Amino acid sequence: MDFSHKTILVIDDSIDSRTLICHILNQAGYDHILEADSARQAFDLLGIDRPEGDIDFGPRVDLILLDIVMPEMDGIATCIKLKATPQTADVPIIMVTADTKDVSLQNAFEQGAMDYVNKPINRVELCARVKSALLLKDEMDRRIELARELAAANKILQRTALTDGLTGIANRRYFDEFLKKEWRRCRREQQPITLCLVDIDFFKAYNDSYGHLQGDDCLKKVAAILAASVKRPGDLVARYGGEEFALILSETTEDGGCAVAHRIMREVAARNIPHENSTVSDRITLSFGVAMLTPMAATAVHDLITQADRALYEAKNMGRDRISCPCLK
Ligand code: GH3
Ligand code: MG
Ligand code: MG
Repeated sequence: MDFSHKTILVIDDSIDSRTLICHILNQAGYDHILEADSARQAFDLLGIDRPEGDIDFGPRVDLILLDIVMPEMDGIATCIKLKATPQTADVPIIMVTADTKDVSLQNAFEQGAMDYVNKPINRVELCARVKSALLLKDEMDRRIELARELAAANKILQRTALTDGLTGIANRRYFDEFLKKEWRRCRREQQPITLCLVDIDFFKAYNDSYGHLQGDDCLKKVAAILAASVKRPGDLVARYGGEEFALILSETTEDGGCAVAHRIMREVAARNIPHENSTVSDRITLSFGVAMLTPMAATAVHDLITQADRALYEAKNMGRDRISCPCLK
């Protein structure tokens, strides 16, 4: 692998040592070598500790060779600072030291240094350690990038798996999961849960008159009205089936559910979507079945769905364009 384009920063207070390291790296084919004679100069070069608002971060560095013994700030303190700074935290650091038994070497590893080379500098050793550090960094970067791509792809996959492609609201699968979860939560907290099933009236006739594309468009409009009609973070609007939608309203009584249904009815009426083949109106209308249950050991999620379904059937039977709910009787 060709690493000649990688940028290597050499931090060493000794000009002889620095010159030698740079010379060896140059000879080995590395073209981008930066030098600093102190931690301070390195920080300036890297854009660390710049005044707030100064967004010039300095050059990207792929590897740092860091002398341990330096006046003012030594290599260990410099290493700590570099590892604590977001823009250099992932840059591998090779310590350069005259004394391998020094406790400071152990300290350097504890502070995140990747490797060390001995002084006096040995050309073969230096080149081998630089190359393996760059190889390791490359592999680490590749894995981080892969993990990032995977996480992004997973997020998209998860979103598409739970979203209805046409309307952009939650799909049936999400509805099922959400209702089960809310049911358990409301059972623990002994709170009511209201389910509202919504069905577009004579939608088959709408498709027959205006075509499927316009039918799809109508579904999108209705979905958007429904989505805008619920305000609480715990509420869910989902596409339940073809032209049927469902609203889950946790910790809400059926009165609350009916209030939401009324709001939706008014909003749909205000949108004035023509429907010349409907026998209840010349506009798009909806029928609602609302049911409420406070989950208990003897009840199950499907009881709530059955009740809401029955109420919807009743709304249809009673002439459509209406809300059916036990609380209205
Ligand atoms: P009702 O008032 O009793 O609800 O009558 P309806 O015609 O609305 O109900 P029915 O169940 O007989 O027909 C539903 C229609 O909804 C059938 C189908 O053509 C239409 N539909 C279902 N899904 C879609 C869809 O994704 N796009 C379009 N354009 N139409 C759909
Ligand atoms: Mg219908
Ligand atoms: Mg239907």
